[in-house]
Amino acid sequence: MFGGILLQKVFYEDEKTTIVELKNLVKLFCDDRDWDKYHNPKDLAIGIITESSELLELFRFKSEKEVKKMFSNQNKKQVIMNELSDVFYFILRLAEKYDIDLSLELYKKINENNKKYPVEICKGSSKKYDELLV
Ligand SMILES: [Mg+2]
Repeated sequence: MFGGILLQKVFYEDEKTTIVELKNLVKLFCDDRDWDKYHNPKDLAIGIITESSELLELFRFKSEKEVKKMFSNQNKKQVIMNELSDVFYFILRLAEKYDIDLSLELYKKINENNKKYPVEICKGSSKKYDELLV
């Protein structure tokens, strides 16, 4: 049952895929499993954090050099990509179920951050916006 037109799409690549298509892919996957009843905002947010933690755990106690090495090893990189995809899945599901336009919201947030972090003040600095002028 799963898939329909969405799984018939030959390639899912960033340059060939819209966010709406990804939201619909995740929705179909969930609809086929009757998981809608579990996907309230709280539990989806928990999913984002849980999967983010799994991603973070991969780097625990690793030096910068070791992390860099992980990305050059295809098997280790795949494990990282799997966890990143888990995070993305929950983000897409939360956005799809609760009518959030991710592109618009990201654009708005980047604009807000552009005001908080003016290039002429923060370039080359990792300070938080409220520490920049201190
Ligand atoms: Mg995971």
